[in-house]
Amino acid sequence: SGQISFNQISFAYPNGRKVLNGFTCDIAPRELVALVGPSGTGKSTIASLLLRLYQPSGGTIQIDGHDVSDLTLASLRGQIAVVQQDNFFLADTVRENIALARPNASSADITAAAILAGAHDFISMMPDGYDTVLAERGASLSMGQRQRIAIARAALRGCPILVFDEPTNGLDPDNEALINEAIHRLSKRATVILITHDMAVAASADRILVLSDGRIAEHGTPQELLAKG
Ligand code: ADP
Ligand code: ADP
Repeated sequence: SGQISFNQISFAYPNGRKVLNGFTCDIAPRELVALVGPSGTGKSTIASLLLRLYQPSGGTIQIDGHDVSDLTLASLRGQIAVVQQDNFFLADTVRENIALARPNASSADITAAAILAGAHDFISMMPDGYDTVLAERGASLSMGQRQRIAIARAALRGCPILVFDEPTNGLDPDNEALINEAIHRLSKRATVILITHDMAVAASADRILVLSDGRIAEHGTPQELLAKG
């Protein structure tokens, strides 16, 4: 599971803004793909189409061979978890924020999600360990800490596809490194689409797709793209 095919996607927003034109790519299960390109080239739009927030004007998107437009929304939401730049946080505890992902999850599940998402460094900074951190108010966390908790929340959903939209924007290098590590760890068990305009972040992906003029202008491993200049 977690295989994604975009086939000849075209898309314009309702106001007429044309964004995609012939966007085609296949993403393998548990592949870590970085989608790069300047701001405004349509990277987030691709995520929106995958989530079916909008319908493509042409072309098809398939997950495991099933047309996204044929899936129920519940099934689609069960397959894809998204982490954005500004993640929604309640003014509740970290544990409650993480638990939103799976209301019936046990405390052990929540701790495991936090560990899996690389939140352990943040947590180990706290002398009293996980329980103390999980009892912290979401509102009292730094941006980097919140971002890591948002990743833990997404991890807990156990979806076969994870989409990260500019997950390191505005973060310091330490947080950037921790988030990259978490993304790598999660890509061992889920397909990851990593949207970024930061080539340093993209450089550790399995494959980089460069978006330009509404389609993929170039793709390859980071080494291949570097060799091409
Ligand atoms: P990226 O993620 O690469 O920065 P986006 O997918 O967010 O790009 O946006 C692609 C283009 O579509 C931009 O020109 C943006 O302003 C425009 N756009 C994004 N969302 C909307 C919308 N809801 N309505 C109209 N235009 C939009
Ligand atoms: P990104 O960080 O993806 O580049 P943008 O700054 O392009 O985001 O867009 C931020 C929000 O505004 C998004 O929800 C996008 O859908 C919306 N948006 C962007 N451009 C337009 C537009 N021209 N008309 C309406 N909504 C837009």
